[in-house]
Amino acid sequence: MEQTLVLIKPDGVRRALIGRVISRFEDAGLQISAIKMLVPERERVGRHYTDDEAWLKSVGSKSKKAYESKGVSVTESEIDIGRRIRGQLIDYLTSGPVIAMIIEGNEAVFTVRKIVGSTEPRSADPSSIRGGLSTDSYGAADSRKSPLKNLIHASEDVKSAKDEISVWFSDREVCDYERADRSAIS
Ligand code: GDP
Repeated sequence: MEQTLVLIKPDGVRRALIGRVISRFEDAGLQISAIKMLVPERERVGRHYTDDEAWLKSVGSKSKKAYESKGVSVTESEIDIGRRIRGQLIDYLTSGPVIAMIIEGNEAVFTVRKIVGSTEPRSADPSSIRGGLSTDSYGAADSRKSPLKNLIHASEDVKSAKDEISVWFSDREVCDYERADRSAIS
């Protein structure tokens, strides 16, 4: 069984979407192995959204491509975009309560990202959490100088899931159990 980290960001908590978000994962056959609510400190969010050059470039490159696909040319370098977004994310994630969860199950990383949907709610599939529950767009987020209000963070791959889980949970906070319907799922 694979594990992944999910955060319900402050917009999801304030909009009282916690129950609906959790149901989407449980309905797909995944289970919660750890869960807590907290207002995270800057240091913890800084370890989650790392200052690592590869991460900064990857976020900057995705953002740049999204703008260019809409015919908007971008002069800022990928790394500078990544750095700017990281700073906004640290301010935002520390602005109020978040829910941190470990979600576990067959191909949990892929399945959770599929249910969460793509980064920009405006263009995410409407059946996904981001596409169905938010209207936010790159343009709106950048003009208010805040990260996209896309409700959820979900780990991108198995390696980052492992690293991110260690930022948010200690081993003794993780519960080892199996859903009663486990054998009927996959
Ligand atoms: P994710 O894996 O889909 O969450 O996307 P990324 O790892 O690329 O970005 C991390 C987070 O930064 C996203 O979930 C958004 O909240 C925010 N973000 C990413 N790109 C942009 C952008 O171009 N502008 C703004 N304002 N926020 C962004």
